[in-house]
Amino acid sequence: MENKMIPFNKPYLTGKETFYIEDAVATGHISGNGKYTKKCQNFFESVYDFKKCLLTTSCTDALEMAALLINIQAGDEVILPSYTFVSTANAFVLRGAKLVFADSRKDHPGLDESQLEGLITPKTKAIVPVHYAGVACDMDKIMQVAEKHNLFVIEDAAQAIDSFYTGQDGVKKPLGSIGHLGAFSFHETKNIISGEGGMLAINDSQFIERAEIIWEKGTNRSAFFRGEVDKYGWVDVGSSFLPSEIIAAFLWAQIENIEKIQSRRKLIWDSYRDKISIWARKNKIQLPVLPAYATNNAHMFYLVFETEEHRRKFIAYMKGHDILTVFHYISLHRSEFYKTKHEGKALPFSDKYTNCLLRLPLFFELDVHSVIDKILMYESDK
Ligand SMILES: *Cc1c(COP(=O)(O)O)cnc(C)c1O
Repeated sequence: MENKMIPFNKPYLTGKETFYIEDAVATGHISGNGKYTKKCQNFFESVYDFKKCLLTTSCTDALEMAALLINIQAGDEVILPSYTFVSTANAFVLRGAKLVFADSRKDHPGLDESQLEGLITPKTKAIVPVHYAGVACDMDKIMQVAEKHNLFVIEDAAQAIDSFYTGQDGVKKPLGSIGHLGAFSFHETKNIISGEGGMLAINDSQFIERAEIIWEKGTNRSAFFRGEVDKYGWVDVGSSFLPSEIIAAFLWAQIENIEKIQSRRKLIWDSYRDKISIWARKNKIQLPVLPAYATNNAHMFYLVFETEEHRRKFIAYMKGHDILTVFHYISLHRSEFYKTKHEGKALPFSDKYTNCLLRLPLFFELDVHSVIDKILMYESDK
């Protein structure tokens, strides 16, 4: 029987992925840091102005590299939103950091920058803003607080490829290029994919040399292959953070089509917004808010219901019409692992998004109008 369910996500293949993988295999270099890794890194460095990019096996790994690079020690405090993916937190918990959660903004799931000053202590080492749905946090305010208190800023830009922030200086900057370090994901649920995959963007040049070493298991292997040292060995801590050329070759096929992928996603996103905004107002549902300083990379289209019960009813209604809609994070301060460790502060907006946010299907090949038709037939009071 044919499955007519519209999924939440369907990975888009450009058609060139296996071609480039075959090429990588034919060249005989299938471990990391070969031709395709360099092509991908050069692309991101030249198009988005990151000082240095290193592909990683995931955004999780890029965040773990960031925690190593800024030398997180046991007892250091890291400020992050509670409404985020576990990897934002795990990277720092693995190094012994204490998590300090900021609430989300009232109008947006991103971190509420106005709370930062109140969360800083002498032990604070870093702020980790998450650009939820690819929509920028208020980076000017975050960078100002960080500078004042001498803190590192690591952008969790997992969802934020090809999205921008325009600060008070009027300069439009790619997300992930503003903090000291930025972490991206190419997981199959993101805009540009390689199955599993990620990238660390290094914007503060003091970290570049050590980042390459940590990336290559704590050895100076990269410098050796550039002829900068005459032998290589163990010089620092590190791990195997670099992906194989097979992954990079896949990613290259996606990168070549980034404009096509992004414009298709934006078209779908705009259709949702244009066609359902009146319906949403009538049903007391909040649509995504884009602050004036942010662009939209069409990573996600979400609804915020007034109550969890409304969301539950809508999910069931859509499922009845063979359309899969999914909610997102359970705030980390309410998670099984961390709830007893969280020091009691209420995070009402994190809770609100945990209970009431719902994501609509958004992928390259989606027939968005068939989803919109079903949405418009739904009335919350029926
Ligand atoms: C997807 C995601 C991650 C993890 O990315 P992986 O590449 O799967 O490790 C981390 N943070 C956020 C906000 C994400 O959306």
